[in-house]
Amino acid sequence: MSSTMLEAMPAERLVNELQSFGVRLEAPDAGVASRQGGAGPTDHKAMTIDGMTVMVPVHTAASLRSPYVVGLPDAQGRSRIVRDGAVVAEISFPETPKFYALQTADGIPYSKIAVLHGRDVLATTVLQSCVRYTSREKTCQFCALGQSLAAGRTIERKTPAQLAEVARAAVALDGVKHMVMTTGTPPGKDRGAAILAESAAEVKAAVDLPIQVQCEPPEDDAWFGRLRHAGADALGMHLEAVTPEVRARIMPGKAQVSLARYSAAFEAAVPVFGRGQVSTYILAGLGDTAAAILEMCEKLIGLGVYPFVVPFVPVSGTPLENHPAPSADFMHRILQPLARMLGQAGLHAADGKAGCGKCGACSALSSYERARQ
Ligand code: SF4
Repeated sequence: MSSTMLEAMPAERLVNELQSFGVRLEAPDAGVASRQGGAGPTDHKAMTIDGMTVMVPVHTAASLRSPYVVGLPDAQGRSRIVRDGAVVAEISFPETPKFYALQTADGIPYSKIAVLHGRDVLATTVLQSCVRYTSREKTCQFCALGQSLAAGRTIERKTPAQLAEVARAAVALDGVKHMVMTTGTPPGKDRGAAILAESAAEVKAAVDLPIQVQCEPPEDDAWFGRLRHAGADALGMHLEAVTPEVRARIMPGKAQVSLARYSAAFEAAVPVFGRGQVSTYILAGLGDTAAAILEMCEKLIGLGVYPFVVPFVPVSGTPLENHPAPSADFMHRILQPLARMLGQAGLHAADGKAGCGKCGACSALSSYERARQ
């Protein structure tokens, strides 16, 4: 990043702006192919700005109108971001990972089993189907879980052996540093913990790679010990929205697991995984006020839970595709005080062993944390 840009706009504000507006690409094929559909950052592209790799929307309706334009890359793969004719930053795109060129013995490309997120995270959706995804009434309105499956870009069920094979290759060839295993919610009381436990165990047996598992709170807290024992280093249980009204409107199925159950699950999980190793994903921009999000974050931090607040991105093909993304100002009003609260509590993204908070690419939160430090 040029010093001119740093003087003009602090890095955390720029990341915040880019994630809010998205960018237009002069060379759509630069960098790692962006994903459309699926869990996690979709309709995004990974870009490295000032040493930070962040996910920036590139396929959303808003990004097509963005004032930020990423120019053609030079011979070294560096591009410039321009706004109103002025260069605001230099960026580079992470290279396509080498493990994408491989396939299993039975012919499944590794990239259908797990993908690179951010700079050094191997991410997979172990089960690409969900009890919450069966009807328009029950589905989480922001979710695109079925799209990548329908488009043939992934397979529905990744076996523990397949995950272990891909993880070993991604560590050896591309130096990935941690792994995120999420899952659609299967029927049953464990809410996905069982398949995550067997997957974590097999990956851990194959390669020394810190793993975060992500699922809804299982009915029985004993699953936290089982997941930890299986090799999971960190746990994500994602609230998505923080007030009952917004949860009921945006995710009517998932909202059947109450905020009280989430809170009890966090209390039970933190002693098992450790302070700061349990986290939650909060999507800002779905209707919760900044004050409501910060109030929830304060409670979570008090429990030792890292609240990863991310700007909602309207994904094409979902019921919320025309819902506006939150403004950069709205995110700033959350992320700046949140970074202060985290700092005061001694919880830092960088101290996570694995997972979204540690990766940080989907939010400017870790940039705000770094700016404070
Ligand atoms: S923050 Fe989580 S979902 Fe976003 S790129 Fe990183 S690992 Fe993937």
